[in-house]
Amino acid sequence: MVVGELGSGRAGSTESPPPDSAAAVLAGLDEQQRTAAAAVTGPVCILAGAGTGKTRTITHRIAYGVHTGVYTPEQVLAVTFTARAAGELRGRLSALGVGGVQARTFHAAAMRQLRYFAPRVLGGPMPELVENKLRVVAGAATRNRLTTDRASLRDLASEIEWAKTTLATPEDYPARAKAAARETPFEPAAVAAVYASYEQAKSRDGSLDFEDLLLVTAYALEEHRDVAREVRGQYRHFVVDEYQDVNPLQQRLLDAWLGGRAELCVVGDPNQTIYSFTGADPDHLLGFADRYPDAEVVKLERDYRSTPEVVGLANRIIGMAPRRRGLPGLRLLGQRAGGPEPRFLEHPDEPTEAAAVAAACRALVDGGLPAAEIAVLFRINAQSQVYESALADAGVPYVLKGGERFFERPEVREAVLLLRGAAAGRDDGALVPTVRDVLASVGWVEHRPPPGGAARDRWQSLSALVDLAVDLVAEQPTLDLAGFVTHLAERANAQHAPTVQGVTLASMHAAKGLEWDAVFVVGLVDGVLPIAQSLNRPDAVEEERRLLYVAVTRAREQLTLSWSLSRQPGGRRSRPRSRFLTGIAPESTAARRTPAARAAVVLDGAAGQLFEALRSWRTEAATAASVPAYVVLGDATLQAIAETRPRTLTELAALPGIGARKLAAYGEDVLATVAADT
Ligand code: ATP
Ligand code: MG
Repeated sequence: MVVGELGSGRAGSTESPPPDSAAAVLAGLDEQQRTAAAAVTGPVCILAGAGTGKTRTITHRIAYGVHTGVYTPEQVLAVTFTARAAGELRGRLSALGVGGVQARTFHAAAMRQLRYFAPRVLGGPMPELVENKLRVVAGAATRNRLTTDRASLRDLASEIEWAKTTLATPEDYPARAKAAARETPFEPAAVAAVYASYEQAKSRDGSLDFEDLLLVTAYALEEHRDVAREVRGQYRHFVVDEYQDVNPLQQRLLDAWLGGRAELCVVGDPNQTIYSFTGADPDHLLGFADRYPDAEVVKLERDYRSTPEVVGLANRIIGMAPRRRGLPGLRLLGQRAGGPEPRFLEHPDEPTEAAAVAAACRALVDGGLPAAEIAVLFRINAQSQVYESALADAGVPYVLKGGERFFERPEVREAVLLLRGAAAGRDDGALVPTVRDVLASVGWVEHRPPPGGAARDRWQSLSALVDLAVDLVAEQPTLDLAGFVTHLAERANAQHAPTVQGVTLASMHAAKGLEWDAVFVVGLVDGVLPIAQSLNRPDAVEEERRLLYVAVTRAREQLTLSWSLSRQPGGRRSRPRSRFLTGIAPESTAARRTPAARAAVVLDGAAGQLFEALRSWRTEAATAASVPAYVVLGDATLQAIAETRPRTLTELAALPGIGARKLAAYGEDVLATVAADT
């Protein structure tokens, strides 16, 4: 069996042998999942929370379609959003014994098609991809006489990206940016001018950026009948995982692939929308049934991934979000046996927090949990460094960023070249000793990772190749070095990296769709989660809350959330923990610092939840009126509302801090917020 992808070590290694019949495929599903999986033709939409088996259902649906002979594997295209998630899909499909299905990111699928059609639609070979976008943006900014620094360049690049993923031209940009309340680094007209020059620079160089890849592929299908015929003839069944994060550009490509057909299955969870600031739009998911009135719509509620303790915490976190109108409540019901309570840990500073996490990882590994079943998740990549050194100090192997670039690492390229040379030169003996020999010639030693980050990375990469050889030989005892080298080339092609045995260090964004037995969600301070840039926009803060929901729902059993009061040892312990923990985690010493947090912690669970909902509403109201929050209503008043839950304006008027003016301005809204909080 092929080893699983990162984060799916268990699915890849201990699951039963692939089902051998269509009935056996369906036997692995519950009744609702089965309804969706058995509907192999026509539009299907699964709208469900984290861990309810959406990805499992689509992989089983594909396997069922193949087993019943309705699908030819090569005619199925499954798309998702990250290379890791695509790897997860491939790993699960191969565990189901299904080969030949294309499981790719939108970009990878578009790239493959465009490469093939480039001569026909672009009149030449595949154009170069823009490698350094910031440089092109910088050139465009200079031509428009803008003074920029690194941060404003990055913001300009994100605005251009947002415009392109939402299909806005430079002419459209100013109005669209205003309507979407984008925070622009320069006047919208200036951003539009930079966007226009950026596009000109690319057409002059004949290069494409990532968004162009999708756009040009869609265009090729829309405008070239022969291309459309060929691609649509090749791909007849489409599946999109994590559909809540589809953006208008990806949707356009998807529509071009479909060409009016309805052979589409989408699955997603609106509560896991974490890319709307780059243009993703969950309305595509929520509006699917309107778009396809004959769609089979399936809702799943049973959470098979996590213990009831983890599920309960996830429900509480997302339950504090102000409810979106028309959004179905997606409360999860934990199906697994009980496990440990999630832990909340406060530390004096970041290195102490990281050392504690590393020590806990060490203990888990010593207790027999494979390191690949553990993840440390953070909000921004810069947070990873302190965890890398702490894990190294504790002697715990780790992997950074994951497997998607594995075959591009220099040591892996070098090793593959050497192996290829060896395969050509010798008529060899057993595969595994041969691979060990060849890698020993570049300094690999068994059992003993060298000290130092880079050396350790290198050792881990080489060890992953040896492990892969061991796994493959277990499956195909006669495999020789030439066969192994061919296999590596195929994997590199499919970007299917072998599992590196190590604790995964990943951003919360990159963890989407994956799962681990033990998860540490770290660095939970206000200003990091929610991230500082989001703080003055309620909708951005909500996206950060969903990110925390995504992070905690990655845990199967053990979940630890932590934060530290200062960054450096000996620093001022002034950082408040994440606001999303208020009313959820026990009171912390830091929580006593702000009046709002103080009010929240004295409230019991239900009142605390309403208090949070009222605070979110107040932030929105204050932002809309451009006044400070306390001008809307004070904390003491919110606390009184949360405790008494008024149902009428008269009841509300009886509370302290509510005069006639406040009653007229906010009374209805407050009552609606109370009523929505159940
Ligand atoms: P996410 O929203 O996080 O992507 P998901 O809805 O895609 O989650 P899956 O990853 O498919 O959920 O499933 C979560 C876990 O529960 C997986 O380990 C999966 O194998 C398991 N699982 C799902 N459905 C069942 C089932 N019917 N029986 C046993 N295990 C199941
Ligand atoms: Mg999934």
